[in-house]
Parts: sequence; C-alpha cells; structure tokens
Amino acid sequence: MPDADVLVIGAGAAGIAAARALVAAGRSVLVLEARDRVGGRAWTIDTPEGAFDAGASWLHSGRTNPLTPLARGLGVTLADHDALGDEITFVGPRRASPAEVAARDAAQAGFYAHVKAAGPGPRGVPIPTGPWGPTIAAWAGDLISAAPLAAIDLHDFTANALDPPNLLPEGGFGHLVARLGGGLPIRLSCPVTALDWSGPGVVAQTAAGPVTAKHAIVTLPTPLLLDFAFSPPLPVPQQAAAEALPLGLLTKVLLPAAGADRLDVVPFSVVDRQIAPGETLVTFLLWPFGQPHALGFVGGPVAWALADQPPSATIALMRAEIAARFGARGESAFDWGRAIVTDWGRDPWSRGAYSHARPGQAAARGVLGTPLDAARRVILAGEACHPTLAGTVGGAWESGLRAAAMITG
Ligand SMILES: Cc1cc2nc3c(=O)[nH]c(=O)nc-3n(C[C@H](O)[C@H](O)[C@H](O)COP(=O)(O)OP(=O)(O)OC[C@H]3O[C@@H](n4cnc5c(N)ncnc54)[C@H](O)[C@@H]3O)c2cc1C
Repeated sequence: MPDADVLVIGAGAAGIAAARALVAAGRSVLVLEARDRVGGRAWTIDTPEGAFDAGASWLHSGRTNPLTPLARGLGVTLADHDALGDEITFVGPRRASPAEVAARDAAQAGFYAHVKAAGPGPRGVPIPTGPWGPTIAAWAGDLISAAPLAAIDLHDFTANALDPPNLLPEGGFGHLVARLGGGLPIRLSCPVTALDWSGPGVVAQTAAGPVTAKHAIVTLPTPLLLDFAFSPPLPVPQQAAAEALPLGLLTKVLLPAAGADRLDVVPFSVVDRQIAPGETLVTFLLWPFGQPHALGFVGGPVAWALADQPPSATIALMRAEIAARFGARGESAFDWGRAIVTDWGRDPWSRGAYSHARPGQAAARGVLGTPLDAARRVILAGEACHPTLAGTVGGAWESGLRAAAMITG
C-alpha cells in the first residue's frame, strides 16, 4: 500500500491549495516541505515594528484573486492599497510638480497601451523612451516583473499584467497562507532529494526514508526543478519550459522607524523618483497600516548584484535613496542598524523571487503545467505554470487547484 494517494512536494501556496482540494475530495495526502515552515515565498516575519512580509505582500487582481474570499472568510482585513496613501514622486531633490506627475501618468498609460496593442510574434517588451522612459521601464520591469523588460516575453508580460485592486492583508500575507495550510498533513524540514516515477506509482526519497504514493504534485520553483533528480528525467518539453521561465529577483528591506517622525507622509504612501538612464529605481512603501516601518524595494540585475554582497550594501543603497528624497531628516527617521534585507536569490529553496518568460517563450507556462505522463503520476504546479497570474500567490494557488483536479477528475 502506498503511504498516500497523492504526495505533494512543497508547502507553498500551490502545494497548500492542492492538498486542501485533495483532502476535500477524500484523497489521502502527504505534503513534504523542505523548510521548517509553510508558505514558501509567502512568508511573514513578526518584528517589534509589525508584520513584515519578506515575500508576497499584495493580493493582485483582488476582485478575482482566489485568496480574496478565503482571507475574508478568515476575518482578515484587506486594505485596498490603490485607494490609500499618496504616490509621491521626486524629481531630483524636490517633489514632482502636478504637470510632471501628469506627464509621467500619460507616459505610463502610453507605454501600457503600446504593449497591449502589439501584434503577434516573439519579442521582448519594448523599452519606453522620453524623460520618463527609464523610470517606467524600471518600474514595470525590474520592480514589478523582477527582471529587465528586454528579458521578458511581450505576450507573457501583457497576459500577466496585474490588475487593480491590489489588496494588502492586515497581519501579513505569509500568515494568511500559513493559516490556510492549518490542519493539513505536512511534514516540515523534509526535503525530497529524488522522485522515481518509473513504476506504477511514485517513490520520493527523503532523509527519513522513501515515501510512496500513486501520484505526485511537484511545486518546486523553476531553478530547483531543473536540478531535481527525477527518474526518469524531466521530459524534454517540461525541461525546456522550466528553462524558459527563470526567476527574477526582488529584494525587500524592512526599515524600522527610529522615533516618532513620520516625515509628514501618510500611511500606505509609495515614494519613488524619476531616474536617468542607467540609474537604479528604488521605491518605498511608508507606514503600512500605520505601523512604524517602511519597506524598500530593489529588483532586477541590481538586486542580483547586491545579493552577492553583504546586506550592508543593500542597506547603504536604501539609506542613500532616503537621504536623496528626505535629506538628513529622512536618515534620522530610521533605525538603520536594525534593517532586515531579504535574500531570496541565495535561498536554496527558491533561488529567486518569481518567474518571467524569456522572449518568444510565452507558451512555456502551459507546457510546464502539462502532466509528465498520460497516467498523471507526476504533475508540476506553482506560480510559473499559470498563464495569467504567473508570479503571484493567486496564480500559484490556482495552479495547485488545477493539478489536484487533474487527479480527482
Ligand atoms: C520578494 C517577493 C515579493 C513578492 N510579492 C508578491 C506580491 O505582492 N503578491 C503576490 O501575489 N506574489 C508575490 N510574490 C510571488 C509569490 O510569493 C509567489 O509567486 C508564490 O508564493 C509562489 O508559490 P508556489 O507555491 O508556486 O512556490 P513556493 O512558495 O516557492 O513553494 C514551493 C515550496 O517548495 C519547497 N521546496 C523546494 N524544494 C523542495 C524539496 N526538494 N523538497 C520539499 N520541498 C521543497 C519550498 O521550500 C517551498 O515552500 C513575491 C515573491 C517575492 C519573493
């Protein structure tokens, strides 16, 4: 007798969604998770300054996001971020004038209209030009997509554009995902080192011995999939799809307030600046839910370069960017010695933040989610498999539900 009908590898959003659906359908399930916690790339760290979401923060496309009703069902407050706070843009050391803000908004709308109107054919996302071009490119690429626009397939970019409302769950997105995994049969600190699917079922190897099941749902991030010991190996189409869907990097920094000065900025405000070609765009979210902290964001190649240096290098960048906008008063507003820098790029269980399709590879997401065999013994799930919500918790969740439905019929 196998140990379970279905083995789920990974207790992130995809694995939790799959396991919940399978349990609800009366299947026996076992979830094996490498880390000593659930949630994967949705992870809330509790700090004296409040909940810090080191990974996912927002429920994007909030009206259709599968997590929205689940969060409400648990009584979690969802703040509509688009309706809260100010968007504060700096041009050099001063705030942008209303005319400059209007020019930026028009340039941004023009960029999105241009990419949406693009015809078929493999290519990267076109780079916006003009005085606001570098800022818009860095925002839509390095920060939102965690990779430069030129490295992203145009059609994948438009298919996965994030719609408002963007909802912030009070108390932390990671805690919400962990609560949704409550009561499931999850073995923590149990990395799977190999998966044999050569026989009628599957056999997973762990340090505690082999685990057998009729089916496996594998939710590993794409860089890990490529190195994972499948036997027989990952079929060529899924292997090529995983290669076509690398993870970009977004680094978040928690900046605890040093005192009572809130810089005359209201809670939930986003602070960015106009950048010149070659400059790095760093954005800040100040005082979410009125908590005494800010979040700094840096993404793309600069985030990867910083990941090779000590955290102090990222903190120094954040400090310089705060100083450029708020001067010495801004520097004094934060306790720089207690800043926390995320490290998803070197984390052995993620090796990046979230996926994008390389130019010409928009079809890869569908291929990745196709069962490895006709008997559906092994099905891959996870954010990279979703055609329209890739890179998000909602997409990971739906991919897990879809994989479970392929087994339950
Ligand atoms: C900095 C950052 C910001 C983000 N912001 C947002 C946001 O605002 N909104 C949003 O919706 N999304 C956001 N995301 C993306 C979102 O977090 C992910 O898309 C989503 O959580 C991925 O879920 P998953 O289940 O596909 O993968 P994961 O969460 O990575 O789950 C996979 C699990 O598999 C485990 N695992 C790996 N290898 C093994 C093994 N060999 N054996 C057993 N277990 C293994 C891992 O430990 C992990 O728990 C962000 C991500 C990052 C990093």
